[in-house]
Amino acid sequence: MTLVDLRSDTVTQPTAAMREAMLAAQVGDDVYGEDPTVNALQARLADDLGFEAGLFVPSGTQSNLLALLAHCERGDEYLVGMDAHTYKFEGGGAAVLGSIQPQPILQAADGSLPIERLAAAIKPVDPHFARTRLLALENTWHGRALPPFYLHEASEFARSRGLGLHLDGARLFNAAIACQVPARAIAGHFDTVSICLSKGLGAPVGSVLVGSHALIDKARRWRKVCGGGWRQAGMLAAACLHALDHHVQRLADDHARAARLADGLGRIAGVTLLGQHTNMVFVEVPAEQLHALDAHLREAGIRISIGYLPTLRLVTHLDVDDDGVARTLAAFAGFFAGH
Ligand SMILES: *Cc1c(COP(=O)(O)O)cnc(C)c1O
Repeated sequence: MTLVDLRSDTVTQPTAAMREAMLAAQVGDDVYGEDPTVNALQARLADDLGFEAGLFVPSGTQSNLLALLAHCERGDEYLVGMDAHTYKFEGGGAAVLGSIQPQPILQAADGSLPIERLAAAIKPVDPHFARTRLLALENTWHGRALPPFYLHEASEFARSRGLGLHLDGARLFNAAIACQVPARAIAGHFDTVSICLSKGLGAPVGSVLVGSHALIDKARRWRKVCGGGWRQAGMLAAACLHALDHHVQRLADDHARAARLADGLGRIAGVTLLGQHTNMVFVEVPAEQLHALDAHLREAGIRISIGYLPTLRLVTHLDVDDDGVARTLAAFAGFFAGH
């Protein structure tokens, strides 16, 4: 019985074709800038998204951290969602390593940071205050694609107030597909964008930060300082290039399967459907049944994330096919029929 792992889209296994691409990769020492495959990946994403330069890094957390370090100096601050990855889920890295203060902003339900809340949070120029330097957004946020008009509004606002703009675009391509716009139409509002290749795109490792030459040069220096300068990383970059060639358009399949999963779960008495956005489905079940449900699903070879209680999150990806969706619906239905 193959496992249907719906905990996250980070669990994907490299496909056979991806592994072949990795084996065939030309490599060199990337600290010297001599890995041709890493260079190709960086140039490819920078070109596709309309930026001067890119930087390949091991994780989205490091990519976001390097962006914050590139934009801000000691004693600066960035405006960021209270529930954003770059604030809440990255160990406070910007403060720990950069002496950069986050100014968390309460997100609206659609993941946007309302302009009036941003305006109110910008500090006057005065020695009492940290210097407000950057606005950091996240797209998708819990699967939600930020509305295109909001991106426009937020970037106009940030420019008018002299703030830099960073996007945590871990799932940028999911957002682009959901909004039916090219990824560069979203990325173009920002000075830097971080993209994860190891989520729904299915690479085993890797994120890329794109931006201007000046910002990427700074980020490269900080990457080395953080111990992230790597050598023959071309084998990993080859997996990412393969993902860009073969796994972007198919994200639409993940969204369609998530919609089917949501539709089916919503019909099961005992399950409350909270929402479905791109490749994520959120449901609630009675708290006292949660552990029995989790055990029942594990027995049926299905894993779901119960780390967001009281909400359950189910994420579709490259390794969840139609049969996986059917098995999940059957297992939920079976559980609630018997309780
Ligand atoms: C996964 C993720 C990241 C980066 O995570 P890593 O595990 O460090 O690669 C950043 N932002 C968001 C929104 C994410 O979902």
